[in-house]
Amino acid sequence: MSRRFTGDALVVASHNQGKVVEIAALLAAYPVEILSAGGLGLPAPEETGADFVENAEIKARAAAAASGRAALADDSGICVHALGGEPGIRSARWGGPAGDFQLAMRRIEDDLGGKSDRGAHFVCAMSLCWPDLHCESFEGSVDGHLVWPPRGTLGFGYDPMFIPTGHDLTFGEMELAEKEKISHRWRALEKLFAACFEAR
Ligand code: IMP
Repeated sequence: MSRRFTGDALVVASHNQGKVVEIAALLAAYPVEILSAGGLGLPAPEETGADFVENAEIKARAAAAASGRAALADDSGICVHALGGEPGIRSARWGGPAGDFQLAMRRIEDDLGGKSDRGAHFVCAMSLCWPDLHCESFEGSVDGHLVWPPRGTLGFGYDPMFIPTGHDLTFGEMELAEKEKISHRWRALEKLFAACFEAR
């Protein structure tokens, strides 16, 4: 049985503005005040975990320990099937220090080198950590395929080259409200809400 969250404020432990916007939109239905890690001046810990869940827990624990409040963190990325799941947990690092995802998308395309399997999935691990450092973590994913050249200016990261299965638009061409309904982030958060939050 998962621990229930009964507080009225949560630190969103991310310094990635694209993610903070999406998480805040997904939490809008709950009467919870959102505090951002950046706004509280919390440092971003090093992501040394071996998988998405470990990294999400590192971030959520660090923010809960530093703020003394419950903290929610996501670790996410894109796994390209023909590249053995890369960049995976290294998705942010492929953008380099400047977070250049045009470059990171180009690297995926170059590494694919004309391979016919263009399948990929996004994964998100969502971790909620209490001030006593207890964590509850859940994973969500969304399958799709990659297009080249990238399309659309909405979203962030690898969105412009990813078309979710059953859709024609890339995530970069979808309004947030549409991406939200099917995204890996939403699927992970939906599991967390079901396990840890009172029904709306
Ligand atoms: P991290 O979770 O902070 O390690 O960063 C994950 C990286 O994966 C982000 O910087 C993005 O490049 C990529 N990523 C994660 N989720 C998404 C998404 O919903 N759309 C596009 N890129 C994403």
